[in-house]
Amino acid sequence: MGKRLKSGWTITRSKPPKCAVHPPVMVLGLLLRVACAQADRYAGRKAAMTHSPYDDPFDLQPRLAEVRRRDAWRRRERRYGPVGPYAEVDGERLLSFVSNDYLGLAGDARVREAWVRGAGAYGVGAAASHLLGGHTPAHDALERVLAEWVGAERALLFSTGYMANLAVVTALAGRDWTIFENRRNHASLVDAVTLSRARRVRYRDLAALRACLPERRPGRGLIVTDGVFSMDGDVAPVAELAAIAKAEGLGLVVDDAHALGVVGGGGAGTLAAAGLVPGGGIALVGTLGKALGVLGAFVAGSADLIETLIQTARPYVYTTALPPALALAIEAAVDIARSEEFRRTRLARNIQILRAGAARSGLRLTASETAIQPLILGSNEAAVEAARHLRRAGILVGAVRPPTVPAGQARLRITLSSAHEEDHIRRLLDALIPFAQKVS
Ligand code: PMP
Repeated sequence: MGKRLKSGWTITRSKPPKCAVHPPVMVLGLLLRVACAQADRYAGRKAAMTHSPYDDPFDLQPRLAEVRRRDAWRRRERRYGPVGPYAEVDGERLLSFVSNDYLGLAGDARVREAWVRGAGAYGVGAAASHLLGGHTPAHDALERVLAEWVGAERALLFSTGYMANLAVVTALAGRDWTIFENRRNHASLVDAVTLSRARRVRYRDLAALRACLPERRPGRGLIVTDGVFSMDGDVAPVAELAAIAKAEGLGLVVDDAHALGVVGGGGAGTLAAAGLVPGGGIALVGTLGKALGVLGAFVAGSADLIETLIQTARPYVYTTALPPALALAIEAAVDIARSEEFRRTRLARNIQILRAGAARSGLRLTASETAIQPLILGSNEAAVEAARHLRRAGILVGAVRPPTVPAGQARLRITLSSAHEEDHIRRLLDALIPFAQKVS
């Protein structure tokens, strides 16, 4: 019987049913449970004895063992404090030649102050994508400044250079395209070409590019290149590439990650150095975490290119916008990079001191006129040993090994900054020369 409520509804409370189990059934159930437990135990022992892929679906141990075997194990060391000529790494104060802070802006008080001001005005994060509420006047202002700097109609911000490269290549090219890529392009450009599904044709130099132009499929195509090659430091022949692209009706994408702020008048990059501007069939990618000292990247080019990226580029549409506070910091950094020419002059002087000192001692650095000054040592062991030797002398230089560089070309990647003093570079040379002479 239920209880009748004022509303007319009736609540009925049912009693739990009584269970009537016959004794023979109980015994049978007990026997069944014992049998199941035994079977489980047996299955467990068998699984422990036989290795099957289901035990370790990721299958990581063999891969890690292979990295160790190749002497290619990478370790993350903790750096304390801001970037500068010196770095405190894992408790040691070291003279550092590993950062991409080519103009010494990562710790600049004016850039820091702009960041703090931006955080006060906007908070610390954009909290949304550009198309869904994350876009701010700070982003707009920075895009205008960047476009003007490199001489483009428009520029578009990205959170990293990796994403900018993925965006521009995949938004432009598809299955029926052919992409001619330099063999030494940065991994993000290589991945961008893979993601685009275009036909990939790799070239070593201009002659090889000209020779492989007939491999182009019917349809459209691109040439993609680093402006400054990140592991060698040499500048790509962008004027010649632009001429080939124009003659062949190809587009050209130049990734100026290591050139912006450093190469060209006012640091406007390799296109500017070649008397070119982004636009028409030329797209420029610039990154903001190297010479500009902050984080992020941009694509510069025609208004149509930028609008196409906003409308269709997945790494633009489906990701959180760069924090607006960073946009303010970057704008301050761009202002300094453009106006304080003395930073490029000091960097050029530092490059000259290193190269002259190395040449006097028969040390063969790669043919680079930029802040990246590698010394190719060949084997992984040689590169690691050289880095260890410098470390013992209180100097931090990165050993770069395959797959970042081709097999047999492991190297010390020395990067210079305008913040280095002449004396710092002499110390590096004093430690490096006797060691390199001994091993060569
Ligand atoms: N392009 C080149 C040539 C680079 O060296 C790098 C960074 N190492 C990138 C793109 C990626 O830039 P980001 O670090 O901003 O993702």
